[in-house]
Amino acid sequence: MKNLSVNPSKGTILIVDDQPDNLRLLSTLLTNQGYIVRKAINGQMAITSARTDPPNLILLDVLMPDLDGYKVCQALKSEPITAEIPVIFISALDEVWDKVRAFSLGAVDYVTKPFQTAEVLARVKGQLSIQHLQAQLKERNGILESLNEELFRSNRELEQFAYVVSHDLQQPIQSVSGFVKLIKLKYEGSLPVDVEAYLERIDLASDRMQKLIKELLNYAQINKQEKRLESVDINILLSQVLDNLNQLIIEKNAVCELEHLPCLTGNPILLIQLLQNLISNGIKFVREGTAPRLKIFCRQGKGEWIFGIEDNGIGIAPENLGKIFEVFQRLNSKDQYPGTGIGLATCKRIVDYHGGRIWAASEVDRGTTFYFTLPVS
Ligand code: ADP
Repeated sequence: MKNLSVNPSKGTILIVDDQPDNLRLLSTLLTNQGYIVRKAINGQMAITSARTDPPNLILLDVLMPDLDGYKVCQALKSEPITAEIPVIFISALDEVWDKVRAFSLGAVDYVTKPFQTAEVLARVKGQLSIQHLQAQLKERNGILESLNEELFRSNRELEQFAYVVSHDLQQPIQSVSGFVKLIKLKYEGSLPVDVEAYLERIDLASDRMQKLIKELLNYAQINKQEKRLESVDINILLSQVLDNLNQLIIEKNAVCELEHLPCLTGNPILLIQLLQNLISNGIKFVREGTAPRLKIFCRQGKGEWIFGIEDNGIGIAPENLGKIFEVFQRLNSKDQYPGTGIGLATCKRIVDYHGGRIWAASEVDRGTTFYFTLPVS
């Protein structure tokens, strides 16, 4: 459809009427208001004119010989080039049925003759404003859509880049680590103390880097995976997780209280990762001088299970609760609480993969509860 001029209330109006007096009257009225007016004295002329150069609005008489207003409206609405031009019927027919018919054919308004000029002007202005706003909305939607596509594409590219870089870093870092181990083995006891200390630091740093790369690759891969869901018993997954964390649990003197958990449809490997990340965080972020105490529970919501993992740890300040699921977000000192900042971002991806939600509630120095939902199968 044609764009409106700078002033949003002005535009081109096609008046269709077989009575020259009516045409003249309306034309003078609208021209005086600053509209550009075109005229057609029968239905066929109106259709040709609208097709050739679509106006912003059509004022259409109903009773005309040959093609009446209804038929003209029908023809206009059936062609893409003219379908969106707003049509206001102007007619002496005043029956409800006539109006209903006009609206059902796609008219936006109906004015009964004899009309008040102020009324016609108000309706014309209203329709043109609506049309202008609709055009603006359409344009903005188009811009938003293309921005969205662009964002989606650059995210994909960035992810692919991160994946390739992490993948290619694996080999050299494994070589560094391997050669340090070889030197340590070959020259055990014969190296100066400071060289041994340097090697130890290289060894620790390359271990950290390998862990980071492994976690990053794992994070990137969740979105690449095809959905593989099966029936899982969360109690069994949880006992496997607690087995994996056994050493940490003993080391930190942690206590885990477990409720009976449901069976559902999910990806067992990813759900183990999810539970393991949340439980190991609950144990890791402990307050000094206290033993970690965790509660793992589940409630049934509307079409979903709501799981909770509650700890008595250091807690998270309210202003940070929105950030923690972003990748590489870490709130505490590296030395006191080592980590990569990828764990919760991975948890979020796993929950998204299953069509659930994840969030946390917390009180500083009292503890945190992580909640996540999974669909009831
Ligand atoms: P990290 O490798 O640091 O554990 P995560 O992505 O698992 O990374 O967590 C991100 C940050 O969120 C952590 O560095 C920590 O500051 C905070 N956090 C996560 N879990 C807890 C918790 N249970 N209690 C307090 N803070 C937490």
